[in-house]
Amino acid sequence: MRAVQYRRIGAAPEVVEVERPTPGPGQVLLEVTAAGICHSDDFVMGLPEEEYTYGLPLTLGHEGAGRVVELGPGAEGVEVGTNVIVYGPWGCGTCHQCAQGKENYCPRAAELGIAPPGLGAPGALAEYMVVDSPRHLVPIGDLDPVATVPLTDAGLTPYHAIKRSLPKLRAGSTAVVIGTGGLGHVAIQLLRALSPARVVALDVSEDKLDFATSVGAHDVVLSDEHAAENVRSLLGGRGAQLVLDFVGAQPTIDTAMAVADVESDVTIVGISSQPAAAQVGFFRQAYEASVSVPYWGSRGELIELVELAHRGVLDVHTETFSLAEAPTAYERLHAGTLTGRAVVVP
Ligand code: NAD
Ligand code: ZN
Ligand code: ZN
Repeated sequence: MRAVQYRRIGAAPEVVEVERPTPGPGQVLLEVTAAGICHSDDFVMGLPEEEYTYGLPLTLGHEGAGRVVELGPGAEGVEVGTNVIVYGPWGCGTCHQCAQGKENYCPRAAELGIAPPGLGAPGALAEYMVVDSPRHLVPIGDLDPVATVPLTDAGLTPYHAIKRSLPKLRAGSTAVVIGTGGLGHVAIQLLRALSPARVVALDVSEDKLDFATSVGAHDVVLSDEHAAENVRSLLGGRGAQLVLDFVGAQPTIDTAMAVADVESDVTIVGISSQPAAAQVGFFRQAYEASVSVPYWGSRGELIELVELAHRGVLDVHTETFSLAEAPTAYERLHAGTLTGRAVVVP
């Protein structure tokens, strides 16, 4: 079968021929119907050799959707032929975090050698993929796999980040979204669907800001050195109750901290290769502002998102590519010329 692999540090991903995998005990084989491309892949492929821990060659793709085609010995709870999406942050399944469905925070995954597909285990950018357990599959019924596959990360990560701050998003509150790409454009829609907050979106170009408006942002502000003062003047001098930073670089972290109101949440989702420091301490940040860095989301939250998708609440924008075109999709991601999520259809 064909797969898209990162094979050499610093090299572009390649489309290669590999053996079709067979599911081991308890595992499930999917025929991949769609696979999303995330900016984190770009981060991973930009790491120097001494910091790269994902193994080579690495079949990419941590957003996967597929049709169940074969069950390994003892695998139960899912039928051949079912359309599913894959919960990616695999954990041990039995510890206290995993018992709550928060496998993204499993403290045992690393010591047990468990890694997400596309970030250690073979990923979804292939004709077939193995999923380590039926509990990591969420049936999607008749939903379109292309529009639904981004929910596994571009949806799940902002959903988790927003849900934990919902008590702060009262009537009259503001949420700021910095970076309106794959994750950010879903975040805007989730904020609109789940809260009465005014949504202010920041990005670096007029066409990205137009896109943010088209998916529901009330106001848009160019993300430059004046962004914080422009956001504050828009808000009559006040700050935001939730700031979601989907870039995570020094300039956006500085903006995020500067627009945070008292008792707000500053949530840094973006992963930057440049080390960044939040200016914290008295006189440097709003009173009782909390800064956090969430990672992905829980199994239960992915099930909730699929419910939202069935209700037609989300309009995930995708640009589709064939497997052969996947390297081009990565180039476009790196150059910042994609709108919404790039999805590969094998
Ligand atoms: P993307 O490339 O689709 O979107 C990034 C957006 O940020 C683009 O619209 C781009 O124009 C914009 N941007 C770039 N520089 C900016 C700046 N200075 N100010 C404002 N906007 C700017 O990326 P994505 O796939 O949505 O991922 C977003 C980030 O989230 C990445 O850093 C990724 O690694 C990270 N991520 C984190 C998690 C997690 O669990 N914490 C999960 C998935 C992705
Ligand atoms: Zn990702
Ligand atoms: Zn665990």
